[in-house]
Amino acid sequence: MAIISSKSPPPDRDRPPSKPASKPASESLLDPLVQPEDGETLPTATGATGTNLQDPDGRIRPQCLADYAGQRALKEVLAIAIAAAQHRQEPLDHLLLYGPPGLGKTTLALILAAEMGTQCKITTAPALERPRDIAGLLVNLQPGDVLFIDEIHRLPRMTEEILYPAMEDFRLDITIGKGQTARIRSLPIARFTLVGATTRAGALSAPLRDRFGLVQRLRFYDVEELAAIVLRTAAILKVDLQADGAAEIARRSRGTPRLANRLLRRVRDYAQVRHDGTINQAIAAAALELFSVDPLGLDWTDRRLLTVAIEAFGGGPVGLETLAAATGEDAQTIEEVYEPYLMQIGYWQRTPRGRVVTAAAWRHLGYEPPPAIAAQLTLLPDPSPPPQTP
Ligand code: ADP
Repeated sequence: MAIISSKSPPPDRDRPPSKPASKPASESLLDPLVQPEDGETLPTATGATGTNLQDPDGRIRPQCLADYAGQRALKEVLAIAIAAAQHRQEPLDHLLLYGPPGLGKTTLALILAAEMGTQCKITTAPALERPRDIAGLLVNLQPGDVLFIDEIHRLPRMTEEILYPAMEDFRLDITIGKGQTARIRSLPIARFTLVGATTRAGALSAPLRDRFGLVQRLRFYDVEELAAIVLRTAAILKVDLQADGAAEIARRSRGTPRLANRLLRRVRDYAQVRHDGTINQAIAAAALELFSVDPLGLDWTDRRLLTVAIEAFGGGPVGLETLAAATGEDAQTIEEVYEPYLMQIGYWQRTPRGRVVTAAAWRHLGYEPPPAIAAQLTLLPDPSPPPQTP
């Protein structure tokens, strides 16, 4: 399977310039949005129409559904769709994947193409600014190809409108001329599968969303799944990772495979320099403390968001924009990257009046929650790890 990519780091994934100067250097290493991944994400290719690329460490990215850990229900849905499409000798239905960054959306698109024995062309919505960018990609598709568009909620309106007939009737409508003499010419294009990925399914326009035959959400991974992922990566990188070391890294990876693999690399460096290279629980924990990743996987930015919300706003409710201004973080980054995991572990709530820090988070950071917050009924159990027994 050839991988063709025009993926470039999107602007909103860049760190905001207003970052506080006191931010520790280790923080950027933990930011789930920092790309490219050390050797494991797709390298940037030039031009919106794609360039052949060689992934320097693509081995770490699972190549088939069997190697893709977790997401059991989603994998089952896709396995059925693949088998049915192969049986009918048709391309797969268009697929929309949504969920926080680093959970495996790009990987799944590549796997789908591999399983179907076709090519995967990878691009990102901001690279499709002009209608001719998407037209160039569409006319070059071969039958059955997978076209992966990351951040599909950011597609320009004109590009989106070109996609409608392409998705529905495998037709490219081109407008020739201007004004009253303008004519539309239709060109047939190959039957292809569009895989769209987004962190914000709600931001997609309804007509675009309706054209996907399958809409699937990726969920955070549990500790066992993440441990299996880092053990697999360790075997590929020839790192001596013990089961308890893998579990420690997994616990601190915010349910996110990209982060788990990144933390493994940092722990590997630490184990090599300070020890004999073997990673066990104690070494993983010491290394991750050094990189400011706490036992729940919260990093410097998570703790800052919670601390500012507690100290400056009494734990909330506080508006997203106010919080962004107070912390120097980008509001969209808070919403798409930090909040989902904090909500998942029951530390953060979105309410109509603003964001609220839960009693569990107050305690995790060493604060005593005020009685009103402490008395709050929470549907989620306190996810704090049980006290260590000596
Ligand atoms: P997304 O597109 O959702 O941001 P990616 O597909 O780029 O995420 O995944 C990030 C990295 O995490 C991949 O390079 C891969 O190594 C790893 N990864 C993601 N999902 C899985 C999985 N289910 N099993 C094993 N590794 C995974």
